[in-house]
Amino acid sequence: MNKVIQCPCGYVIRADDEEALVSLAQQHARETHSMELTAEEALAMAQPE
Ligand SMILES: [Zn+2]
Repeated sequence: MNKVIQCPCGYVIRADDEEALVSLAQQHARETHSMELTAEEALAMAQPE
């Protein structure tokens, strides 16, 4: 199932598996917000699409 994370900054992260979604979200948080996101935090923000 596709999942999507909408970052509060407006950036939308899409992936077709959780592992890829988490890693993209962590990369975005690190590069754009200088913030470390845990897998749990990333998944808590994920919505089914
Ligand atoms: Zn963001």
